[in-house]
Amino acid sequence: LTVGVVAETAPGERRVALVPKLAERLAGRGLRVVVEPGAGSRAGLPDELYTAAGAELGSGAESSGGDAGDPRRSDIVLTVTPPSEEDIARLAAGTVLIGFLDPLAAPERVQALDRAGIVALAVESIPRISRAQAMDALSSQANVSGYRAALLAAQLSPRFFPMLTTAAGTVPPATVLVLGAGVAGLQALATAKRLGAQATGYDVRPEVAEQVRSVGAQWLDLGIEAIGDGGYARELTDDERAEQQRRLTEAIGGFDVVITTALVPGRTAPTLVTAGAVRGMRPGSVIVDLAGATGGNCELTEPGEDVDVGGVTISSPLNLPAGMPLHASELYARNLVELIELLVDSEGRFAIDPADEIVAGACVAGRPEEVA
Ligand code: NAD
Repeated sequence: LTVGVVAETAPGERRVALVPKLAERLAGRGLRVVVEPGAGSRAGLPDELYTAAGAELGSGAESSGGDAGDPRRSDIVLTVTPPSEEDIARLAAGTVLIGFLDPLAAPERVQALDRAGIVALAVESIPRISRAQAMDALSSQANVSGYRAALLAAQLSPRFFPMLTTAAGTVPPATVLVLGAGVAGLQALATAKRLGAQATGYDVRPEVAEQVRSVGAQWLDLGIEAIGDGGYARELTDDERAEQQRRLTEAIGGFDVVITTALVPGRTAPTLVTAGAVRGMRPGSVIVDLAGATGGNCELTEPGEDVDVGGVTISSPLNLPAGMPLHASELYARNLVELIELLVDSEGRFAIDPADEIVAGACVAGRPEEVA
C-alpha cells in the first residue's frame, strides 16, 4: 500500500500531515510513503529528511527518473486542511483520505467526496473514547492553539505578565481570564501561569474546575451549568445566555487579558463577551478570541483581524497551529499514524473493520467496506 503526503495549499498553512520520523515508522510496516516535494519545507522539514527516512518524492508532474508519481494517487492520502474542489478531482475513487475535513461546517465537501467515491476519514469525527486518545487531532492542535493564544496575548498586552520587583519600581502580575476550559483553554491557562500571570478559568462544565486549579489557576464560578451529549457543553437557553453575559460582563472588567475558547460542536460559537463588556474593560486590555472561525466568542470580533475598540485590542487568529508548524505537525502526524495503524495489518495490507467505533465515527464519506 502507498501513503501519499500532499503539500498544503491553504493560505498561511505551514503544517504537514506526516513528519520524517513517522514516515520511517510507516515504511517499517511495509508501507510505501510518497511525499510531494516541499511538503514539509514550511515546517522546517526539507525533502532530504523524508528520503533519508525511506520515503519517496512524487510531484504528480509527468513522471521522470526518480519521481514516484502523484502522492494523490496513493491508497491512503494524508492532508492537514480540507481538500479544495480541484484537489478532490485529482483523487481516485477508492482512495482513503484522512485529515481535517470540517464535515459539520462544510457538508457540501463531504457530498463531493462521497460522489467521487473517496473513503473520507475526518479526524474531527473520531470519537473521543480512551482507545482513540492517541488519534485525537482536535486535542493535539487545540493544545498548540491554547499555548500560542497565551503567547499572543502577552505580546499584544502593554503590560508584563509576571510580577516584577525592580529598582525602577514594582509591577503587579497581569490578570488573565480564560473562557472555555477545554483542551485549548487549559493550555492557555497553564501557559499564562508559567509566564507569571494570575490566571483564572471559567467554563459551563463544572467538572473542569479541578483541572483549572491543577494548572495553578483560579476557578470563576458563575453558577451556570450546561452539559450536553458526550460530556461536551450544550448550547445555553436564551435565559441562561442572558444571565451568563450579565455575570461575565461584571467579571471581565477586572481583567487585563481575556482569552476565549468556547465552542459547541456544530454550532456557532456562543457570545460570552458582549460589546458592553468590551466597553467596560480598561484601555490597554487584550482579548484573544480563538472561536473566530465559528463567529467568535466576543460580539466585536472580526474573524482573522486585530481590531482596536476604545483602546481594547481584540485579536482573532484563525490558525494558530500553523504558526508553530514543527511541533503541531509532529503531534498531528502521530495522531494520523495511530489511525493508519488501525486500518492496516502488520504486513502493510488494508484490514479495515467498518464496524469499529473509531472507523465508523471518523468515516464521513464513502464505504470503508469496499476498500480491499
Ligand atoms: P471544545 O473545543 O469543543 O470547547 C471548548 C470549551 O468551551 C469546552 O470546555 C466547553 O465546555 C466550553 N464551552 C462551550 N460553551 C460554553 C459557554 N457557553 N460558556 C463557557 N464555556 C463554554 O472542547 P474540547 O477542548 O475539544 O473538549 C471538550 C470535552 O471533550 C471535554 O469533556 C474533554 O474532557 C473531552 N475530551 C475527551 C477526550 C478523550 O477522552 N479522548 C479528549 C479530549 C477532550
